[in-house]
Amino acid sequence: MFVPRSLKVKRSSNDDIKSCVAKKIKPEGEDLQLDQGRDVSVYTSVTEEAITPDRPSSQSGPFPSLAGQLREDASVGPEQGAEEPVKSFSKTQRWAEPGEPVCVVCGRYGEYICDKTDEDVCSLECKAKHLLQVKEKEENLKLSSPEKVGSEPESPLDAAFYIYKEHPFILNLQEDQIENLKQQLGISVQGQEVTRPIIDFEHCGFPETLNHNLKKSGYEVPTPIQMQMIPVGLLGRDILASADTGSGKTAAFLLPVIIRALLESRAPSALVLTPTRELAIQIERQAKELMSGLPRMRTVLLVGGLPLPPQLYRLRQHLNDKKLFKPPVLVFVDCRLGADLLSEAVQKITGLKSTSMHSEKSQVERKNILEGLLEGEYEVVVSTGVLGRGLDLISVGLVVNFNMPSSMDEYVHQVGRVGRLCQNGTAITFINNNSKRLFWDIAKRVKPTGSLLPPQLLSSPYLHDQKKKEQQKDKQTQKDMVTGANLMDIIRKHDKSNSQK
Ligand code: AMP
Repeated sequence: MFVPRSLKVKRSSNDDIKSCVAKKIKPEGEDLQLDQGRDVSVYTSVTEEAITPDRPSSQSGPFPSLAGQLREDASVGPEQGAEEPVKSFSKTQRWAEPGEPVCVVCGRYGEYICDKTDEDVCSLECKAKHLLQVKEKEENLKLSSPEKVGSEPESPLDAAFYIYKEHPFILNLQEDQIENLKQQLGISVQGQEVTRPIIDFEHCGFPETLNHNLKKSGYEVPTPIQMQMIPVGLLGRDILASADTGSGKTAAFLLPVIIRALLESRAPSALVLTPTRELAIQIERQAKELMSGLPRMRTVLLVGGLPLPPQLYRLRQHLNDKKLFKPPVLVFVDCRLGADLLSEAVQKITGLKSTSMHSEKSQVERKNILEGLLEGEYEVVVSTGVLGRGLDLISVGLVVNFNMPSSMDEYVHQVGRVGRLCQNGTAITFINNNSKRLFWDIAKRVKPTGSLLPPQLLSSPYLHDQKKKEQQKDKQTQKDMVTGANLMDIIRKHDKSNSQK
């Protein structure tokens, strides 16, 4: 089965979320042995998920044959409402544009994500080849470490007992030897009770798979920044590090973060923020290399400039905390058709689970939508204004008035769906000349809240006309009002007109 990169062959992400959750193995959070008292300041996008291959129980090995795989996958496509069938052969796939995902087998456009390994593949053919390659690699690994034959991948529980302890070799070095070493390697450290650097990766006591991955990536010995940063990171301390480009900073923070993520039971367990897309891509690639074969470890790359649906798919697939998607977004439109069309467009373009709410929905449907919203099943609801009143109970994070309502009362009611119960929320309102008669009322209402008003609105002649008219009206009202100062004038005027009669 494939996860498409384009919407044309979208498959339900819900099923995947369920299957992932079902496969999770929960490590004992209480056994976390890192220094819990201090925060780790560097995080990576390592997330957890079981990596058990999906396969029919009748299959003999963990990976199906090439032909079997092609048959199995090809039959899945049309049932998923695909407009365009999943590409069967590598040669029918185009080459990747710069920045686009690349097939791990042939280097063409990685339009799909292999659901078994999470790698990018271009076609059914390459997926099958990729799975065979993975199987081969696994078998080679077993042969090269015979003591591991038949054993399961590293247990999360083994890793959960990881505690960084200074290796006897490091412990036995004299203080001046350590200082000398640091000086020679250009390591300068500030901070209290900073642990000694390691000299070899073996001094970390990493799980075997991680040691293997390091060797496979060509990391024979740690670089100076890694020598000092890794043990400090493994102790869970905050680090502010500076080293030249290409000096191995990425692995210096990734390795402690990977160990930490192995111990975490919640996902995502780490987040890496980078200033550029290229750097994010590079770090994810390195993280994947280092995490390969470790249990429940996945990465999600979130960058601008690449299609959003596959990124959201991956994010959702790997997150077990649905709360990250709450609170929902409520979009108000002015007609039923608008609600249906916009809801469909939102789901198609963003991949967010969206639904519409309007008077044509039966009572049962409305109830289901409300329940779905409360349970976090829907991330976006597009509703007509009147039906919006039924959503009173829902606390939303964002209200979008896609169409400005016809009255200020309605507007206030809709915007009031956010920020309830002292929570913060945002409201975005689209306005055009269709609601020009409300321009001044909107400005008056919104300006005191410190919200941003577009200059086009503030400089609109309609707004200024309305403001002028209101000011004239106010003046007139003031004139007509009876006050202590004008009371005698009013009586005199009244007497005069009476006597003239
Ligand atoms: P970075 O400074 O993190 O961008 O790393 C620069 C390059 O050095 C990357 O290609 C890494 O894969 C590689 N690298 C990082 N650490 C080591 C190491 N200990 N041994 C060999 N290569 C490394």
